[in-house]
Amino acid sequence: MRADLTSKTDGPGFAPGSVVLAGAGPGGADLLTLGALRALQAADVVIHDRLVSAEVVALARAGAEVIAAGKEGYGPSWAQDDICALMVARALAGLRVLRLKGGDPAIFGRLDEEIEALEAAGIPFRVLPGVTAASAAAASLGRSLTRRARNSELRLVTGHDLKGYAEQDWRALARPGEVAAIYMGARAARFLQGRLLMHGADPATPVTAVANAAHPGERQVAARLGDLAETLAQAELAGPVMLLLGIAPRGAEAPAPALPEIGVKELTL
Ligand code: SAH
Repeated sequence: MRADLTSKTDGPGFAPGSVVLAGAGPGGADLLTLGALRALQAADVVIHDRLVSAEVVALARAGAEVIAAGKEGYGPSWAQDDICALMVARALAGLRVLRLKGGDPAIFGRLDEEIEALEAAGIPFRVLPGVTAASAAAASLGRSLTRRARNSELRLVTGHDLKGYAEQDWRALARPGEVAAIYMGARAARFLQGRLLMHGADPATPVTAVANAAHPGERQVAARLGDLAETLAQAELAGPVMLLLGIAPRGAEAPAPALPEIGVKELTL
């Protein structure tokens, strides 16, 4: 069935010369929203980042121009300004442009920079949220990100910012029961561990890494804060990694083992 982007229940539609900035979710097509799917089927141009899975990109309308505009990793990298310029140029040419980003575009996705470029050029746009990686990682663990009597807040933090390793409110993060989803945190693991312990965090605090959440080949690694960097180094995770501070995988509630005994748990899907 052909998706109709102009249906009344569907918001303002996808007019020629406009841009939809959509989240693709963190994994395969089952975590894509219906809105993002409709936009994929209607777009003339799809500009996606490297976190968007091949399975999702394959849902683009036949004949659409598909541009992989990855900004990180080891392949050729796109500068943010070039991505903005490309979106603007294609929209000004009267095309329907879909900017597709991994997870939710509003979470560590440089969404504002892209919106500002569109606004400056007078291009109409619409944002469609997506499932963020923290939600997918928690779902894979069978865990809730909030829990009555444990944490009344959830922090979404980044391991890196413009200046390098990102500084945080460490004292708050070090409190017992604190839960944080740490994006781009794997390479900053030693720094995170050091800062948190320095601010009084319990070395037995669980930290669970989920690599490639919601993808085939997803891996979960259970660690404790006191051995986080070492456990991650041993696990040699590949692909994007979400660190969930304060969350253990199910079945890991048994009394905390002595630090050297903490194992690596791998999930085969
Ligand atoms: N906008 C995205 C986040 C982009 S920042 C979102 O909402 O999910 C990139 C970081 O997100 C990665 O370094 C990693 O920490 C996390 N990430 C994205 N996709 C992931 C996945 N499938 N599994 C684990 N972590 C993921």
